[in-house]
Amino acid sequence: MSPEDITAQTTSGNNHDQPIHLSGSIQPHGLLIALNAELEIWQVSNNTQNYLDQQPQELLGQPLSCLLATQQVTAIKQCLEKKIGSFTTFKIPITTINGDRYFDAIVHRTSNALILELEPRDSDDEVSFLGFYGLVSEAIAKLQNTSNLAEFLHLVATEYRKITAFDRVMVYQFDQQGAGSVVAEVKREDLPPYLGLHYPATDIPEPARQLYTQCLQRFIPNFPAQSVELISQNSADTTPVDLSWAVLRSVDPCCVTYHQNMGVTAILVIALIKNQQLWGLISCHHQTPTYLAYEVRKICEFLGQIVSLELGHKVIHSELDYEVRLKSLQAEFVELISQADNFIDALIKPQPSLLALVNATGAAVCLDNEITLVGATPNIEQVRSLITWVDSQISERIFATDSLPKQYPEAIEFKNTASGLLLLRISQIQRYYILWFRPEVVQTINWAGNPNESIQLQADGSVIFYPRTSFEKWQEIVQLTSLPWKQCEIDNALALKNAIVGIVLSKAEELAKINQELERSNHELASFAYAASHDLKEPLRGIYNFSTILIEDYAQVLDEDGIDYLQTVLSLSVRMETLINSLLRLSQLGQTETDLQLTDLNELLNQVIEVISSSRQDTESYIHIPRPLPTVQCDSVLLNEVFTNLIINALKYNDKPEPLIEIGFISERESDNALKATSFPVFYVKDNGIGIQKHHYQTIFRLFKRLHSQEKYGGGTGAGLAISKKIVELHNGQIWVESSVGIGSTFYFTLGQ
Ligand code: ADP
Repeated sequence: MSPEDITAQTTSGNNHDQPIHLSGSIQPHGLLIALNAELEIWQVSNNTQNYLDQQPQELLGQPLSCLLATQQVTAIKQCLEKKIGSFTTFKIPITTINGDRYFDAIVHRTSNALILELEPRDSDDEVSFLGFYGLVSEAIAKLQNTSNLAEFLHLVATEYRKITAFDRVMVYQFDQQGAGSVVAEVKREDLPPYLGLHYPATDIPEPARQLYTQCLQRFIPNFPAQSVELISQNSADTTPVDLSWAVLRSVDPCCVTYHQNMGVTAILVIALIKNQQLWGLISCHHQTPTYLAYEVRKICEFLGQIVSLELGHKVIHSELDYEVRLKSLQAEFVELISQADNFIDALIKPQPSLLALVNATGAAVCLDNEITLVGATPNIEQVRSLITWVDSQISERIFATDSLPKQYPEAIEFKNTASGLLLLRISQIQRYYILWFRPEVVQTINWAGNPNESIQLQADGSVIFYPRTSFEKWQEIVQLTSLPWKQCEIDNALALKNAIVGIVLSKAEELAKINQELERSNHELASFAYAASHDLKEPLRGIYNFSTILIEDYAQVLDEDGIDYLQTVLSLSVRMETLINSLLRLSQLGQTETDLQLTDLNELLNQVIEVISSSRQDTESYIHIPRPLPTVQCDSVLLNEVFTNLIINALKYNDKPEPLIEIGFISERESDNALKATSFPVFYVKDNGIGIQKHHYQTIFRLFKRLHSQEKYGGGTGAGLAISKKIVELHNGQIWVESSVGIGSTFYFTLGQ
């Protein structure tokens, strides 16, 4: 980088008290005449003898007309009306004692003077318009045809090298902190490459940048050349001429040393401006003194303006390309997760997508305590602690940092995976987050020389810029920092959140619809079962009645087989009726609203036992209730049915001479792991019967499921347990069995969850 025009205060060199633009000297490849408002020569550079064959003293105080023809003087006078910073150029011949000399005259105004700079030219030849057009039009066409930024910048360097024939042309780009890097380079093959080198911001301090946004070019044809002082008519007049805009302004000595260290003798620097900001520089270097005609420099400047314009598009394009790529990735991703049955799974399934969405290398999806890691991440415990920190420290729905360890020091431990964090809060209520990670930046930046060497702190506390002596690559480790998160990446994360919220909402809607539908079809099914079983009863009754009549009145006309068959018809229709009754009961339950009331279960159980005892002898003596049962909220009619079913089963499926039935409950405090944890009491009916094999624990609760033939254990419809289960579920409870074959079974149930 060229620290040319370091206009900050500098103590190096001769004019250490003056800002460089008030140095009062110029480069020797031209002469400078400062005129007052009357166009009298107020100050002049001390080299007029070389170009005009006159001593400065001969010119000082003279009207400009002593040098130039009236027509030229009039033209120059008009420049007094122009605004500061506006240049006018002429080709002018000046007659000297040695004949006519030709000059490029560059005129501009300062706050207190009109500055006329004269650069000699060989003749009055000039680059023709066609020559100029030929030079730039081809370059412009090529530049417009490049598609990406890198290719474009390389072409810029190539075209400048063609025009200037300098040894090396580089394009620098500044970052937000003002540090620069060489992003394109075209050079003589034998020179060392500077491409990719980084330069600290101090190489071009802010005032110099400011100047570059005003004067778009700077030309120094010969660094070692001795600068020429300006002389005023009156030696007591020390008013300095403001040389900010002067093309011949002398060079800061610091800058001379800097370039001499690099082996550079001539430079041409063109500013690249994007959005009124200095985006970068085109810097042309040459090892030997090289003079470029003013017109050629103007062509370079003009081309620089075209490059600046095109640059805006190219940068926007390359950013847009990236944004479009991210957006389309996002659209694909959202489509994928919205179609998935479980969108959280889908979120982490096509792993690269989640990462590519924001160009991260790792991610963690956190749904309360459930954390899923994707790609390169800190370990699960580290992520868990990070989330705890996030919970307490970050309230924003999106948060991005490229230096997490600076805010959360524990992150130093996992800087290799997560020096950068992009955090997305999906839910404000629940701890639902997506965290994306980026590692510490590849850590190695090739600085051109030691970036800290160019600044030195003086004893008096002032800071000066010193030329850096080494251009060897050396590496500075940029610690604990990741690549920064771009705005479009952050936007993409936010858009993902909106999409997720949308998906969750539509899934919830879908679920509500399905539930509604399910409820409706359940209801329909129950009414269908009820209607069907109800209607079946009538013809069945007919079959039963007519079979009875046949047996009673026509037994004499039938043989023995005929009577047997009729008996079978009769018992089958009886069985069918019990089955239909069970079905009816179950379908009725489907449409029943429970009538919950505080019920003393001791009373309820007494009634049950009483009824069962009326048809089964000794029932009471078999039943043992170790402690009084509680009073609970329940539908007493329905619960009566449950106890009846369980007790009758306990009696039926028993082959012991002395059946034993225990009825009781376990309260929450007493329940152990074997039982389902519930805050409601767990009731049980325990027997010493035949037991049930484990693989039937579930199936026995199905409708009409029997484990034994009709004839065994007093028969049954296989509906009792299905009905009991339905009733328990109507109370929001559960029913289950534990059993040992040959030893006995225990049926447990609860009346709530
Ligand atoms: P069923 O009318 O046949 O008794 P249930 O639905 O009440 O119908 O019971 C279903 C099946 O579960 C019964 O056929 C029986 O095989 C088995 N079962 C029910 N209770 C017990 C028990 N206490 N001991 C052993 N087996 C049982």
